Amino acid sequence: MNRKILLIEPAYKNKYPPLGLMKISSYHKMLGDEVIFFKGKSKELREIKWDRIYITTLFSFYWNMTIDTIKFYKRSVKKTKNFYIGGIMASIMADEIFNEIRIKPIVGLLDKPRMLNDNNDIIVDHVVPDYDILEEIDYTYPAGNAYFSYTTRGCVRRCPFCAVPKLEPKYKNYISIKEQIKQIDKKYGHKKNLLLLDNNVLASKHFPRIIEEIKEIGFYKGAKVQHPVKFNLLIERLQNGENNNKLLQKISNLLKDQPLYIKNEVAKNNYLKLLEQFDLLNGISREQLLRIEHELIPYFDKYRNKAYGLKYVDFNQGVDPRLVTEEKMKLLSELPISPLRIAFDSLEPKYKKRYIRAIELAAKYGIRNLSNYILYNWDDDTPEDFYNRLKINTDLNSNLDVRIYSFPMKYIPVINRNRNYIGPYWNLKYIRAIQKVLLVTGGAVMPEKSFFEKAFGKDLQEFHKIMLMPENYIIDRIKHEKNGDTKKWWNILMSLSKSKEEYDNVIKKIESKDFSIEDKKYSKKIPGVMRHYLNK
Ligand code: SF4
Repeated sequence: MNRKILLIEPAYKNKYPPLGLMKISSYHKMLGDEVIFFKGKSKELREIKWDRIYITTLFSFYWNMTIDTIKFYKRSVKKTKNFYIGGIMASIMADEIFNEIRIKPIVGLLDKPRMLNDNNDIIVDHVVPDYDILEEIDYTYPAGNAYFSYTTRGCVRRCPFCAVPKLEPKYKNYISIKEQIKQIDKKYGHKKNLLLLDNNVLASKHFPRIIEEIKEIGFYKGAKVQHPVKFNLLIERLQNGENNNKLLQKISNLLKDQPLYIKNEVAKNNYLKLLEQFDLLNGISREQLLRIEHELIPYFDKYRNKAYGLKYVDFNQGVDPRLVTEEKMKLLSELPISPLRIAFDSLEPKYKKRYIRAIELAAKYGIRNLSNYILYNWDDDTPEDFYNRLKINTDLNSNLDVRIYSFPMKYIPVINRNRNYIGPYWNLKYIRAIQKVLLVTGGAVMPEKSFFEKAFGKDLQEFHKIMLMPENYIIDRIKHEKNGDTKKWWNILMSLSKSKEEYDNVIKKIESKDFSIEDKKYSKKIPGVMRHYLNK
């Protein structure tokens, strides 16, 4: 068919590559189309008239950037009906996007045939993702070198703060990943890590079968892997009939870089002579390579990174503590899981009990590297709940000899167009204070008790004091404690507490980050407090 296809991901920062676009790329390449992937806006690509453009979307708070990117490319497609918008935000806010762009997005997964209006029965969601496109862009996804897959889809729960029930409304108990991993290995080489994007794997009726399959594909405890020989894989692809400029370019780059890895001088000279003899430095063709590959391959087999690395499995959306049982934890412990992410979303007594039990079971079965997202700022959550959940983790670390890394995650409703949302029990100052505390550690609350107590306070009283602290004093805690600023600020603030009205008024102002000092209604001490916030 040979259509020209453009795949676009807006320029937001993200950890995981766009799996949907990777599958769409494979789908079009299977049909003989030419595919280009780009992240962000390119004037050059906008000038071309494409047969199809696909734009993925992520979170609703990237609304402005996403809509701007869509508008940027909208006129670059030959027919508007061939402009496709999909992904998370597009599925949740399909009507809003239609009102803005006049194009109806694809809602949910491409899990049925003919959803892209082609005359074939291929189900896009089932095809092997195209890892090649990730090398076409300058952006590096932090989680790039992994198999990305699902062993289940959807979720059995309907948590009010979550988008999954809308995106994947039906729970699918089992998806075999064996064949897909085999195909990825064959085409792109072994990956070190297995990243499973299941929303609630423990709800599956086939959980033991899922664990068995993960072990069968090589992710058992202690499993190691060597870097694949990229050159050999690419030659194999040529042998299997693939022939395109991008593939040849990749091979050409490897041929030119290989002398850097050949440590033996005689071998290096022989290799360079070979390149010269067959004129491989000035452009290569498939035929030419297939004629001499057997002479080149030994240089790549011998001179390469031969180190072994441990393999890891990561259920990156976390497991549901309410569904943890001794049997399931035992099964999880048979995998090289690191970390095991266990959700800790609520302090409701039943939930808390199940969460603590899940951590105890993890410790019992030797899973010590644990992690969880601590959702805060949502409708039922208070700052005290947030602090108490972190404290429970710190106590579990000490009592059970585990290491739980907590990642506080600010709740934003799934349809908000920016990140400004403040939950009913929260305020702007506290939210900013948490972000400042976490600046030092890149977002994680370290497992050490000493870290937690310094960062968030020994008790709730200290926690509130830190939350109210001027931001500079939070970031540069030691400096301002030593030079006495923190003490002066606290003393003057506390001196206001003699008058409840005055104290409540100043706290209200601080919580809303209103540090103005014009208000003459109250005592002169208020400007004294506010000066600490104004950095004067
Ligand atoms: S259990 Fe997790 S995935 Fe399922 S609805 Fe709740 S938050 Fe979403």
